[in-house]
Amino acid sequence: MKLLEEQIIQDPGGRGVGALLVPGDLEAGARALGAAQRVLILTGFAVGPNAIPETDGPPGALFLGRALAGLGKQVTFATHWNCEAVLAAGMAALGLWAPLEAVGHGDDPVWLLERHKPDLVVAVELPGRAPDGNYYSMRGLCISERVSLLDGLLPAAGARGLTTLGVGDGGNEAGMGKVFDRVRAAIPRGDLIASIIAADHLIAAGTSNWGCYGLLAAMDRNLVPSPAEELLVLDAINRAGAVNAHSLTPEPIVDGLDQAVYLQMLSDLKGVQSR
Ligand code: CA
Repeated sequence: MKLLEEQIIQDPGGRGVGALLVPGDLEAGARALGAAQRVLILTGFAVGPNAIPETDGPPGALFLGRALAGLGKQVTFATHWNCEAVLAAGMAALGLWAPLEAVGHGDDPVWLLERHKPDLVVAVELPGRAPDGNYYSMRGLCISERVSLLDGLLPAAGARGLTTLGVGDGGNEAGMGKVFDRVRAAIPRGDLIASIIAADHLIAAGTSNWGCYGLLAAMDRNLVPSPAEELLVLDAINRAGAVNAHSLTPEPIVDGLDQAVYLQMLSDLKGVQSR
């Protein structure tokens, strides 16, 4: 039986993400989530020429937050100003209430640490800055004008002794700084897009939503959402404008992956033991 970390890093999108696996980090990240009391969840990635939020990130972040809230933890979501409506729509669809903070372009988000006092910060599919200070899409497009500085919360949290997690699938996300050299070597345009923002625990996956579900499976496989729940959230965020990052169309597709393949992972994770 495959380990969970190997299960979620299946790469139907052919990104080369397998090179970014950090053995043991999924288990360690799940343990850290289990021990945390107050969790700040960061997500949101606006894609295409019109900077529309994509369907990878919010579902994983929302189900992660739902599970943690269900375990009695204090959960806060934060996103970029241009992804707020998508997160809010997903929360409403799940009947999930938690603070949702939106950060503007250029704003220093460190106040989030003061206001919500997290002991753990997790970034899910969150643009992470490159060595030149800019943010890049997988295709190498500079997207600095459409993102907030939320990725800066990982080093700010680390400096305060808080635990940090990063979930990503491409190398340009916050947290990937942990494997910076590997992103540069293994990912197309890695020398341009690789993020310098590291996390204590890095969860690399075929899509970032899968990374979140791997974390949930490592905690308790019953926490993994069913395909029906996933489709409910995808429909809600599509209605709020979220698009498949490959087609730039609002449809219940994540990262251009075949929907049956994408949903099968959720069913598989519910049936896979963590060791
Ligand atoms: Ca993705």
